[in-house]
Amino acid sequence: MITIFCAFCAWGILLFTICSVWRTLSKGTNYVKMLHQIPCTGCEYFTNDYRLKCTVHPKKACSLEALGCIDFEMKTSCCNATQTGRRKPY
Ligand code: SF4
Repeated sequence: MITIFCAFCAWGILLFTICSVWRTLSKGTNYVKMLHQIPCTGCEYFTNDYRLKCTVHPKKACSLEALGCIDFEMKTSCCNATQTGRRKPY
């Protein structure tokens, strides 16, 4: 009788562990998918500079608050505000 109880407990713990790992992975992938929907890197106002990431909303740039930002403008290549890297000194 005790053997059956131990086997039942072992299978229960194993199933609980598998379900827990599955839920954690699912939450992680959903969170990463949500982070990839932050539009700032494709925005005209994104500066690519850690000191001032955005000239319109400096506090919420690159954060979850930027999801659905109403000031999003598609980046154009002729914009001076968007830097692709570090500028060379003159
Ligand atoms: S205006 Fe909005 S979308 Fe554009 S960089 Fe700033 S926070 Fe991000």
